[in-house]
Amino acid sequence: MNAAQPSPGALVIAVDGTSGSGKSSTSRGVAARLGLRYLDTGAMYRAVTWWMLQHDVDVHDAAAVAAHAQEPVLVSGTDPQAPTITLDGTDVSAQIRTDPVNANVSPVSAVPQVRERLVRLQREEIAAALAEGGIVVEGRDIGSTVWPEAQLKLYMTADPSARAARRAEEEGGTDAAAVRASLEARDRIDSSRAASPLVAADGAVHLDTTAYTLEQVVERVVALAERARTAARARS
Ligand code: C5P
Repeated sequence: MNAAQPSPGALVIAVDGTSGSGKSSTSRGVAARLGLRYLDTGAMYRAVTWWMLQHDVDVHDAAAVAAHAQEPVLVSGTDPQAPTITLDGTDVSAQIRTDPVNANVSPVSAVPQVRERLVRLQREEIAAALAEGGIVVEGRDIGSTVWPEAQLKLYMTADPSARAARRAEEEGGTDAAAVRASLEARDRIDSSRAASPLVAADGAVHLDTTAYTLEQVVERVVALAERARTAARARS
């Protein structure tokens, strides 16, 4: 699977968990601190969903979604300070955070052909980043399916009200109750789907971020990552 030669002590940090648990901010902060790349796999599922909506594909018709799963051309920029995602050559960073995408991303992500394609792309990105020191990858199935050999796996959660309040703030003061309903609906579908549901991977460190600031969570993960890096160096 790993074509490129990993650099000594190279790290893959898999960050899984529920929506709004602080995965993105934590992952970017940790990647920036440790000089690692950063891959937001949720952005990839969101971009495919945007493509389906733009092409009038019925997202509740799994066969229709599967028939088009190979068509969107996705490129992820993995700089933690400025991550990007382009779809068919256009930056769609803003479009993928809109309500139609929030409402439809979970059914699209449940289609096995979509997952197979995106998991393949994600593994290619990880293999390339390993030659440059490593990568922090955030999603729902990174430690369980995409890269089970990750040196550090995290499973992040937070109280639903804390998660909704954070997301509402990120989205510029949207109604927290509506945001909470949308997050919970996505979590329900993500956790109950047949293909790679959201689960804590074997060996994952559970982090409940409800009572902690972003800085505190980043500090904790950096400490765990440094320990994992030392262990990886000792093994290589
Ligand atoms: O992380 P984010 O909230 O942007 O993810 C959006 C959606 O993408 C999730 O609710 C889930 O349906 C899907 N997803 C997934 N597997 C991943 C990452 C995201 O199914 N690895």
